[in-house]
Amino acid sequence: MSDALDQLKRHLAPIIRLQQIDGLLSWDQQTMMPPKATTARAEQMAALESIIHELFTSTKTAELLAKCESALADTDPNSDEARLVRVTRRDYDKETKIPATLVEELARHQAISHEVWVEARRENNFSLFAPALEKMFALTRQKAECLGYQHHPYDALIDLYEPGTTYADVVALFNSLKPALIALVKNISEAERQFDDSCLQGDFAVEKQHTFTQEVVQALGYDLTRGRQDPAPHPFCSGFSRDDVRITTRFDPHLLMKALFASLHEAGHAMYEQGTPEAYEATPLAGGTSLGVHESQSRFWENMVGRSYAFCKWILPHLQKAFPDPFAHLNALELYQAINRVQPSFIRVEADEVTYNLHILLRFELETQLLDGTLSVTDLPDAWNVKMQEYLGITPPNDALGCLQDIHWAGGLIGYFPTYTIGNLLSAQLRETMLHDIPNLETLIEQGEFAPILQWLHQHIHVYGRKFLPQELVILATGKPLSAGPYLAYLQTKFKELYAL
Ligand code: ZN
Repeated sequence: MSDALDQLKRHLAPIIRLQQIDGLLSWDQQTMMPPKATTARAEQMAALESIIHELFTSTKTAELLAKCESALADTDPNSDEARLVRVTRRDYDKETKIPATLVEELARHQAISHEVWVEARRENNFSLFAPALEKMFALTRQKAECLGYQHHPYDALIDLYEPGTTYADVVALFNSLKPALIALVKNISEAERQFDDSCLQGDFAVEKQHTFTQEVVQALGYDLTRGRQDPAPHPFCSGFSRDDVRITTRFDPHLLMKALFASLHEAGHAMYEQGTPEAYEATPLAGGTSLGVHESQSRFWENMVGRSYAFCKWILPHLQKAFPDPFAHLNALELYQAINRVQPSFIRVEADEVTYNLHILLRFELETQLLDGTLSVTDLPDAWNVKMQEYLGITPPNDALGCLQDIHWAGGLIGYFPTYTIGNLLSAQLRETMLHDIPNLETLIEQGEFAPILQWLHQHIHVYGRKFLPQELVILATGKPLSAGPYLAYLQTKFKELYAL
């Protein structure tokens, strides 16, 4: 290893360790922290984050980076060494392009706007939130200008979450999804065969749910000696090292399935982080390469595995043993039908596989219009409802069930939504490729043999950490660029059979 690279790694390692500690503080805040510690914790995290920012954006980082770039000019551009420098350069440019005054203003406004959003949603009063949202989009436009872009300000924003992806890429993906999805939703809602999922309701003691979901994610391959699962108001995954990746779950005493699928989802994220190579620990190459690729892992386990008929056959006896009431009366087909019921609904996070991406499309279209000024904030509720009717055939009765439902825009996460759809599409593209290598995939799932599946994902995705851009990684893993084809084919096959279309 070159001296310059060695120096850069030694300079970055403690900064990355501090970021891990910051993540641990945030995990604690959302799981264990006593309520009155809020102010102290906010101060602790602000202090730590300002130290991290100062160290990372220091002239020392710039000097070491420049030294590495010239020292490694002739190195294989796909080597770990060259890629580490490239990833650090990207991170450094992003951290330094936005002036400190704008960073501060954004942070302050995010906190305020979040508070206002919580109240507006509770009161079901969009006009309370409108001024804060207007300012958020104005500040975000400034941020996009600072970051720079080639064609559309959205390019600069999505690049923060899905490096290398542009506005035009997302438009192209949605154009190939939109007509087929709208038609499928319509066909299903007009189908004669419909399913009832009330058979999934019951009384499920939270403690037992915790044990059960933990056993399931462990069976998939989530390593609990390097992770843990705790109850929290929102399910999330948080990693501080490849050897400490934690998930949280929210338990509904009457619906076990909520916690079960959320656990499969978060365990999918966690196994990606746990799969980071040891050699990448405390370097910029550790972790997942983008939010979309991360979401492909969670969606793979949640949907491609968890919502399959094979999985229902495997899990049913375990469900019946742990919760005889209500599962003793169900067979695997009834379970499969109930968990795959398609029903246009107002709330994105509760949407089924068929309607989910239409919720994302709606948000993507509206946020680009709000960003480029073709839609004014005051017109947002109407625009939202018109699109809901057009895509899903339903109109929200109020804004709390409409444009006020998501936390993202209030927190400044603009350009983030498409990563959910990218993840869904990629999960199906990975499944399609995996089926060539593991033709007996369904049998393995039915027998609870998940190790070869995790091994495949490890070999084709996890092992690369952040080394490759998502677009490069998708080609490496599946032999072709991301497209809507495999996802549509998966949905058509599955739901045409389920609904006898
Ligand atoms: Zn996720």
